[in-house]
Amino acid sequence: MRMKKILISGVKPTGRPHIGNYFGAMKQFVDMQDDYESSIFVADLHALTGIDSAQELKSNILEEAIDYLAIGLDPKKVTLFKQSDVPQVAELAWIFDCMTTMPYLMRAHAFKDAEAKNKDINVGVFNYPILMAADILLSDADVVPVGSDQKQHIEITRDIAEKFNRLFGKTFKLPKEIILEEFATVIGTDGQKMSKSYGNTIPLFATTEEIQKAVMKIPTDSKGASDPKDTDSILFKIHKLFLDQKEQVELKKEYERGISYKEAKEKLIESAEKFIAPLRERRAYWANKKEEVLKILKDGGEKANERAEKIMTMVRKNVGLTL
Ligand code: AMP
Repeated sequence: MRMKKILISGVKPTGRPHIGNYFGAMKQFVDMQDDYESSIFVADLHALTGIDSAQELKSNILEEAIDYLAIGLDPKKVTLFKQSDVPQVAELAWIFDCMTTMPYLMRAHAFKDAEAKNKDINVGVFNYPILMAADILLSDADVVPVGSDQKQHIEITRDIAEKFNRLFGKTFKLPKEIILEEFATVIGTDGQKMSKSYGNTIPLFATTEEIQKAVMKIPTDSKGASDPKDTDSILFKIHKLFLDQKEQVELKKEYERGISYKEAKEKLIESAEKFIAPLRERRAYWANKKEEVLKILKDGGEKANERAEKIMTMVRKNVGLTL
């Protein structure tokens, strides 16, 4: 019997997920759960770079675990855990810190973006790719499904693994990113990358009202009601996300024939609602089972910790910390 390949990924618990998180990353977690030995985590240590309220963090962690279950991750197939239940990642991150140069990390996009925005950058933000490398390498992962904004972080992970292996002997596997081209960067209602910080999202578990509000915000041009409409527009690109191939072809024909923007928006609201309503229902189901959710996280944490400890034992020995 062929062993399944190992998959790991996580999302920061920083508030409600949006459809960019879903199509870019989270949907892949669900689609791949049968074919990989999967671990999906709540990246609570990563979230600490931007959260300073214990109450907020605690609530976000639980909410995200509920989100994972609501999108269809099956805890019988996937190890669902919270990152801080594997504190070995912080230990490994320190070891990686000591073998990574500042100029190398200064090339990371996330850091450069934060710097360009003149943000008060904490050391955690700067070290973010190192902690991420520790998460991935401690799970012995072959693949990491992510959105395209994380591509560089996986490259950094491979660089660190290679350097460690060169210095201290073969210890880590070199993981690969999996990025779906079609959903590499999901755009938001203003045409920029969909992101919580831009206020241009459609929440994954949006209420009907929130869907309507988000869609109404999408800018359109001054074309007349019966003029052909652009299928390269924000409206079309967002609508496409909710449709299968056949429905996409149909919608394209309608745009080319000339659909009014009013009707196009109504149709988008309808498609989004059809897609989101069942997710919302499943979320309500899990939100009522908090004890069960906590137990799933706890069991997953123990499993992930055990696996990480095995690798960490080897790491400590290989760097010379074990006498
Ligand atoms: P984050 O909330 O930054 O932890 O992101 C969680 C996951 O969602 C990561 O794999 C990101 O690459 C992915 N992601 C976030 N925003 C988008 C977007 N607009 N399009 C595609 N993927 C995204």
